[in-house]
Amino acid sequence: MAILPIVEVPDPRLRLISEPVAEVTDELRDLIADMFDTMYDAPGIGLAAIQVGVPKRLIVMDLQENQDEDGKPIREPRVFINPEILDPAEEQSVYTEGCLSIPEQFADVERPARCRVRWLDENGAAHDELFEGLLATCIQHEMDHLQGIVFIDHLSRLKRDMILKKLNKARRAAA
Ligand SMILES: [Zn+2]
Repeated sequence: MAILPIVEVPDPRLRLISEPVAEVTDELRDLIADMFDTMYDAPGIGLAAIQVGVPKRLIVMDLQENQDEDGKPIREPRVFINPEILDPAEEQSVYTEGCLSIPEQFADVERPARCRVRWLDENGAAHDELFEGLLATCIQHEMDHLQGIVFIDHLSRLKRDMILKKLNKARRAAA
């Protein structure tokens, strides 16, 4: 178990197209555990393997939408190996997205409101489900990472440049 360093823009690794996972091994399960540690620590709700520098088609996610009676988020970890998006809805929805690779920056992104997702879990079992709401948005955001795309690529050049400028300013202030 370990918290891994998160790859941030403009690191060129975020532009790589990730390779399919050939086999679900113990080594892969160790990486999954480390990715969850890293995601919860950040904190974030989703993380693609390339965000910790591993170009494999692997995503961990936990929306933590529900809380227990003490107000603590209930963990519902999900693992997606070699995920595929099928039948994206024509209807779009807008969410204010953020990304651990573009820290503290947020912007509205429009994506299909629903999609079907097919994937393998950490035991190698196949799943096929219809996603909607934040789950649909989050899986599409993370799938983009597997294709070398980050959420600000969906924005106008003006908005994208504004975010990168704000990010650089925040980095200089923190240095
Ligand atoms: Zn992201």
